Amino acid sequence: MEDTFVDWLLARLPTDGRLEVPPGDDAAVLRPPAMRRTVVTTDMLAEGVDFLLGDGPGRCRPRDVGRKAMAVNLSDLAAMAARPEAAVVAVTLPRDDGEAIGRELFEGLLEVATAFDVTLAGGDTNAWEGGLVVSVTAIGSVPPGRAWRRDGARPGDAIVVTGRFGGSLLGRHLSPRPRCREAIAIAERFPVHAAIDVSDGLSLDLARLARASGVAAWIAPEEVPIHDDAFRAAAAEPGGRTPIERALGDGEDFELVLAMPADAAEELLAAAPDGVELAKIGGIVAGEGLKQQRPDGSLATLPATGFLHRFDEEAG
Ligand SMILES: [Mg+2]
Repeated sequence: MEDTFVDWLLARLPTDGRLEVPPGDDAAVLRPPAMRRTVVTTDMLAEGVDFLLGDGPGRCRPRDVGRKAMAVNLSDLAAMAARPEAAVVAVTLPRDDGEAIGRELFEGLLEVATAFDVTLAGGDTNAWEGGLVVSVTAIGSVPPGRAWRRDGARPGDAIVVTGRFGGSLLGRHLSPRPRCREAIAIAERFPVHAAIDVSDGLSLDLARLARASGVAAWIAPEEVPIHDDAFRAAAAEPGGRTPIERALGDGEDFELVLAMPADAAEELLAAAPDGVELAKIGGIVAGEGLKQQRPDGSLATLPATGFLHRFDEEAG
């Protein structure tokens, strides 16, 4: 199975000038862009953990998995203000129907790669008795010293976010729109002290940024842009979590959270480069942890909510 699948894949991949040696050799050779740093990130999706294949509610197609696997990696590049360049893909296909699943998976991967001008530089394919597992390693570039990091937020910074939050599991999580272009447009014109993308939950990922920076972050809940999906999810589950709780904790929004000087934040909001929807939702103060601003302006502790991977305890 593997050889015919790889032959199909090699024929399917577009040629790209960034590759001195294209896929098909023992390794690919990339021509790195001059005067830029290389940014590398990886993310793995596994059937049964991150998605369920099939038809019906809560299930998805291999093409969706491919799109998402590429997009979540590009979102991590966006969080570093890096320009996407290339990706390598390692995939383990189920033995049953694996070739058809693999083809559909790669059509999804290539759809997003093409949209963001990413060249598929190579990868590895296996088959086994288990479910579909796909790991994408994305490679980007950024001018020296210009990558956004999590650890640079300072007291007095404003917190600015792109897009809207909550309810992504209604379906939006399968086709995330990584904020690569928006990040680069912002990085070119505005000072950003720290950044993170929201994969596990707005409050949880903001708390991670604050902890990495050694500061506290606060949110004004009424300023958080809530996605329509969060209202729909709340309406479908009376007595369940409220729309703002979903916006703060659902995750898989793949939007950006930026900590930046307050005056620069005002200029950014007024400029809205690339037409991106932006909102100022809070700020940074000395201290630690996550807080919410009460209507009287005082700060109260806000528990960070979101998705955490669990490890089962092993005996011994
Ligand atoms: Mg991330």
